[in-house]
Amino acid sequence: MIDTFSSAALALCEAGRVLHAQGWVPATSGNFSARVDDQSMAITVSGRHKGRLEADDIMRADFQGRPLTEGKRSSAETLLHAMLYARDPAIGAVLHTHSVNATLLSRGREGELMLEDYELLKAFAGVETHATRLVVPIFANDQDIDRLATKVATYFTQHPPVHGYLIAGHGLYTWGRDIPETLRHIEAFEFLFACELQQARAYPQ
Ligand SMILES: [Zn+2]
Repeated sequence: MIDTFSSAALALCEAGRVLHAQGWVPATSGNFSARVDDQSMAITVSGRHKGRLEADDIMRADFQGRPLTEGKRSSAETLLHAMLYARDPAIGAVLHTHSVNATLLSRGREGELMLEDYELLKAFAGVETHATRLVVPIFANDQDIDRLATKVATYFTQHPPVHGYLIAGHGLYTWGRDIPETLRHIEAFEFLFACELQQARAYPQ
């Protein structure tokens, strides 16, 4: 957990540069947050370019998604961050990206993507062998974020813990105990998404 708002804000700006350099948050898309304390998070201000974030582009919000920084508004998707922190005190960061591979792999799909028998699964916290089945739920895209957040929360109450989920034709939400772990999870997901897509292209069913 990052202990102050300012250090969380700086770390989120740096994460933005890393993720934008990979092409995973194009055209102001995506949003990032980090836990500040047991009631609030630092989160990106709506509409900012994620590769050029500065401290002023990060604000504070509570775990109901309400802004705590006057005059600033976070993404419409803030509730999807807030609900994760409220549910699980071990979560220290949530990063949401819009990569080509996450978009393509989820587009027109709803249900679950199974990732199994990949050595890189060991990049996920708590996974110690390739002989693991990592489930990635895929939810239909929805501009009604309250409704989507309820759907995600309901899934979480009915299934074992997951490391991330996809929104169809939209992107990836993943999290971890801090920003570095969450960045590692994104890199692992992106590698695995690329494998899945390239395998489907090479061996069409
Ligand atoms: Zn999004």
